[in-house]
Amino acid sequence: MLIAGNWKMHKGPGETAGFCAGLLERIGELGADELAGVDIVVAPAFVSLHAAVEELEESGIRVYAQNVHWAEEGAFTGEVSRSMLIASGVAGAIVGHSERRLYFGEADDTAALRAAAALEAGLDVIACVGETLEEREHDETEDVLRHQVGALAEAIPEPTPALAVAYEPVWAIGTGKTATPEMAHEAHALIKSIYPVERVLYGGSVKPENAEELLSQDDVDGALVGGASLEVDSFTAICETAARLTRS
Ligand code: PEP
Repeated sequence: MLIAGNWKMHKGPGETAGFCAGLLERIGELGADELAGVDIVVAPAFVSLHAAVEELEESGIRVYAQNVHWAEEGAFTGEVSRSMLIASGVAGAIVGHSERRLYFGEADDTAALRAAAALEAGLDVIACVGETLEEREHDETEDVLRHQVGALAEAIPEPTPALAVAYEPVWAIGTGKTATPEMAHEAHALIKSIYPVERVLYGGSVKPENAEELLSQDDVDGALVGGASLEVDSFTAICETAARLTRS
């Protein structure tokens, strides 16, 4: 399983270093075996990547960026390239997050371009897809997922284990609402039927209290966690649940 913390626009370098030190301390107390079988990722803001990479070096916890551009360099104000991330010790990137789509005009094709370019450079990728509330209420979830995942499949015809898709129903992100385990299972199975990606993560208000019922669904291979990844205790608790389910 893969558990990834998306910190969004939280935690500058100092707080990031403090969080990472706290996370390592907590894992040390638990014993590394307690989390065996779980790949743990944190995705800080660009300016905090360096602090996270330094603090987590050789810990096995990997650091991803929250976005990446497809071009090698150029006049793209506000963007960051693959080689910049690699030179900073970053292992992967999230692309196509619904907040990028909603507030910054990210589209299916640009998200797919980002994913393909990042993979080509050797970065791992979490590519986010998911329907809005309006789309779900209009029974358009399947169409939306087919379109979003189809764009990824077109850009990356052969999915590799370095690519995970995150199913994140937009109405469940940061709202405290979660998809029911059945909804998650159905969406994940659909995604895998369209595109044989190894891992499909669920994202949308995952917290220690609901992690078990979501992560124990067939075809749910991990979680992309926003709010609950900002505290060491809640993030570690979700990782522990994932590890326990992996062992059982
Ligand atoms: C996210 O940011 O990808 C996310 C799922 O956020 P939250 O867990 O806060 O809903």
